[in-house]
Amino acid sequence: MARRFSGSFTQQEPIPAEAIDAAVAVLQSGRLHRYNLTPGEAGEVALLEAEYRDWQGSDYCLALTSGGQAIQIALRACGVEPGDAILTNGFTLAPVPGAINAVGGKAVLVEIDENLRLDLDDLTTRVKASGARFLLLSHMRGHLCDMNRLMQICDAAQVTVIEDCAHTMGARWHGTRSGNFGKVACFSTQTYKHMNSGEGGFLTTNDPQLAARATILSGSYMLYGRHGAGPAPEDFDAARYEMPNCSARMDALRAAILRPQLGALDSNITRWNARYEVVERALKGHNRIATIALPEAEQHVGSSIQFRLPDFTADQCRATLDAAATRGVELKWFGAQEPKGFTSSHHSWRYVAAQDLPQTDRIMGTLFDMRLPLSFSEADCALIGELICESVSEVAA
Ligand SMILES: *Cc1c(COP(=O)(O)O)cnc(C)c1O
Repeated sequence: MARRFSGSFTQQEPIPAEAIDAAVAVLQSGRLHRYNLTPGEAGEVALLEAEYRDWQGSDYCLALTSGGQAIQIALRACGVEPGDAILTNGFTLAPVPGAINAVGGKAVLVEIDENLRLDLDDLTTRVKASGARFLLLSHMRGHLCDMNRLMQICDAAQVTVIEDCAHTMGARWHGTRSGNFGKVACFSTQTYKHMNSGEGGFLTTNDPQLAARATILSGSYMLYGRHGAGPAPEDFDAARYEMPNCSARMDALRAAILRPQLGALDSNITRWNARYEVVERALKGHNRIATIALPEAEQHVGSSIQFRLPDFTADQCRATLDAAATRGVELKWFGAQEPKGFTSSHHSWRYVAAQDLPQTDRIMGTLFDMRLPLSFSEADCALIGELICESVSEVAA
């Protein structure tokens, strides 16, 4: 009988004891709303915003209810109007086209390359063809494209870059943190990302007027003076009248459990990367498996791992999923006709005008993905790597 892994791919580590204590203190206070403060009290949300701003190295930070809301608010704060064309990755998670749809934008999908990054030649072509003034760049599965070249292309064409950093919190390109390249960046603290508050998100920027617009959009009423990492009062002169309230504030309970997690983020990044390397090493040893190249300039955060089986048919890919599942290894495959769980292809986003992406379709057709929760030990990861290789060999035989 085949060896089997018995761990859970959706089980995160427990919330740290310090965070649980902070959450209990918030509950005991009864003051869960971010603006429900006693005189002189900063509040957990404002403190978290200041700490995240400092960690990220941005000028401003706004805490929100989700990464998806952060993207919607970022798009509106950048001046997206209904009908505007917005470039984005042909391969990303549904909240990305969802946010474009929510603000009335028209998604213009861009091809990805074999290493899952935006194809910058295709980007150049589609910038010209579409006349789009915005790029919502999804650093999908943590893979940063050549950010210097990307910014050159976008700056030359006066395209505003909004970074979706849901998978790159803590990653860097040539030493610069992901999120500090574009006009504004969005992060998620949803359970499966790099910090866990169930749901939650951040928006960061260095533009004070944009930060003011985002703050009013988040539903700050006229209480923006109570923020921890917001712009000066005069930056709100226009925004306070012009921006609608979209009610997407983070609450004190979530902020309380995130603050201690931020303190552990750097060491957790090291732990993820150790796990990633163990699995990657195993996969690299198999001649049918193509791993994803990690460029020298990128400091990656390996909270998930992807690989391709370039010469497999769809039937063989499906059989690989089953062979891995038999061994307790939960893989996701992006080549299925029907959207499943968290995965979908652009063909399933029927609210987006159908687009031709032959290269993306070919790559996604043999693409697999797997989470690497920190609840797995490095020994678990070594076993998982071997079991994936066994599964691929069994199907190839
Ligand atoms: C999770 C995710 C988001 C949005 O995050 P939520 O907090 O779940 O709204 C955006 N983009 C990508 C690529 C994601 O994986």
